[in-house]
Amino acid sequence: MNQSLRIARIFGIPVQVHWSFGLLLAWVAYMGYEQGWTLRETLFMGGFVLVLFICVILHEFGHALTARRYGVGTRDITISPIGGIARLDRMPEKPYQEFMVAIAGPLVNVAISGILSVVYLVWSGAGSQALQHSLYGIILRDSNFLPGVSSVFELSIVTLIALNGTLAVFNMLPAFPMDGGRVLRALLSVRWGRSTATRIAAGLGQLLAVGLAIYGAYTGSFVTILIGGFVFLAAAHEHRAVRAEEFLSHYKVSDVVRTQFSRFFTFDPVSLPAEAMQHGLEQYVLVFDPAYQVVGSLSETVVLMAVKEELYDAPIESLPLLPAPEVRPEQTLKEVLHIFQTETAPILPVVENGALIGVVDQPMVEHFLRRQRKR
Ligand SMILES: [Zn+2]
Repeated sequence: MNQSLRIARIFGIPVQVHWSFGLLLAWVAYMGYEQGWTLRETLFMGGFVLVLFICVILHEFGHALTARRYGVGTRDITISPIGGIARLDRMPEKPYQEFMVAIAGPLVNVAISGILSVVYLVWSGAGSQALQHSLYGIILRDSNFLPGVSSVFELSIVTLIALNGTLAVFNMLPAFPMDGGRVLRALLSVRWGRSTATRIAAGLGQLLAVGLAIYGAYTGSFVTILIGGFVFLAAAHEHRAVRAEEFLSHYKVSDVVRTQFSRFFTFDPVSLPAEAMQHGLEQYVLVFDPAYQVVGSLSETVVLMAVKEELYDAPIESLPLLPAPEVRPEQTLKEVLHIFQTETAPILPVVENGALIGVVDQPMVEHFLRRQRKR
């Protein structure tokens, strides 16, 4: 089920690799075979790809470690052939903090470029002008234009300098989901507030996306059209998410709390929730221990899977339960949404003065959002 392989834990943050990254290395091996590379050359290219992805991981750590400074944790960092992603628990909403977290990633790549430039200049003894020309040569893909490069090692260093620079520039494009979109939103937030700032940033991002797609169509680059489409959708998504958050911040748990709900115990057989869920009223239910304490929740998906395996008589506690942290009636629905997302807890017990008065679950909040949108 998990499509990523955990490879390390750095600064307490799990780093994982998506399985498709293996495809990329396989592709390098295939290219080596196709082009008649020696084993050494193939390993070298594979190593180069790995180094490049270490740069991407460092970029993500730039975000994650800056976020940590503002008390925001990171669940994990995943790399795949299309890039890295740091799953922050949330994006800090103070403009200054969002600005710093967003810009930290590209700055890491700028720093890597800078350090490698110094390494190159010291190593090769070439002047900075030769380096500049070689960088043009790589960016323009003109192999006749590499005056400062006399070995494969130097070529790799110069290529890494160019690629890190490209990463920084690409990520600073002022459009979601790129870091530049967040930087722009943070800057606009100072003057116009987060909601309006998101609308402007998303609009600009979509304009840029359309421009990108037109450019792609004009130059016949299918990949550019795809990126344009992707950026366009990401902008719309970000805008919708911020609008939903803003809307939900005006309502409280007590506005939606459901007081009618089923209770199941850890020792109950699976057939009980299965039957209740058949009526389709509840997708998620709370599970209690014999002392009437909530120990977690159960989703319809898990129950259906158990039914499929004919585990009708198995006790509920043998199934994987989801967490169910308590919320209070006066908490905002925005906070609730945040708990749904970060704790993967789809149903929460609502507790007032130590007594369980009802539940709030994901379908209810989604329904609430949809109903308000129609008005
Ligand atoms: Zn980034």
